[in-house]
Amino acid sequence: MQHWRLPVPPGKLRYLAHMLPTRVPDTPLVHGRACVVGDAAGLLEPFTGEGIYYALRSAHLAAEALIAASVHDTSPVAYGTAVDAEIMPDLLGARDLQQVFDAWPGLFHLLVRRHGRSWHALAKLLRGERGFREVAQVLRRHPFLVRAILATGHHPAPSPVQRSHQHKPGALNG
Ligand SMILES: Cc1cc2nc3c(=O)[nH]c(=O)nc-3n(C[C@H](O)[C@H](O)[C@H](O)COP(=O)(O)OP(=O)(O)OC[C@H]3O[C@@H](n4cnc5c(N)ncnc54)[C@H](O)[C@@H]3O)c2cc1C
Repeated sequence: MQHWRLPVPPGKLRYLAHMLPTRVPDTPLVHGRACVVGDAAGLLEPFTGEGIYYALRSAHLAAEALIAASVHDTSPVAYGTAVDAEIMPDLLGARDLQQVFDAWPGLFHLLVRRHGRSWHALAKLLRGERGFREVAQVLRRHPFLVRAILATGHHPAPSPVQRSHQHKPGALNG
């Protein structure tokens, strides 16, 4: 990695932030004949903040479910099942990785800089060549290590949205 210099002195930087709506598992996606998609459904990947793909993909899944439901005049419940099967594993994997990153950002950065395999694995994730669901599978193989990392790491004050997540079973606990 090349060294990178900020174009302005750090003290003069202005930071902006936006809330990222990320879905808690089992939050309803369908009510009657209505489906929520994209950000409205919390289908946003929390590690990088990528939401455009999930907005388009969930809209596609909702359209398919609505067309099928209209034939039998039923509710498009298949949409929720499709999101849980296709989209949620990646979002939960990304949330797991984000928790590890938030706990030890310096260590995470050092590992990615110094350990070639970690760097290539992260690059593949960011290029979309591997899914975040694979991260969850890797982390599940080392539950004690992950718990230790999370227990001893730095924990920024949780936002109200994050606090509501803490009461739900996350992928790491599952
Ligand atoms: C600062 C920032 C940077 C981001 N960068 C990226 C990125 O680089 N890559 C990426 O993949 N994702 C990125 N995202 C996330 C991405 O923008 C969203 O996940 C995505 O746009 C969600 O699409 P959506 O259609 O669900 O919602 P939106 O794009 O928010 O569309 C919802 C639309 O509904 C309209 N609307 C709201 N209420 C009403 C109403 N009552 N009546 C009529 N219209 C209404 C809104 O005006 C809006 O146009 C970023 C998000 C932010 C905030």
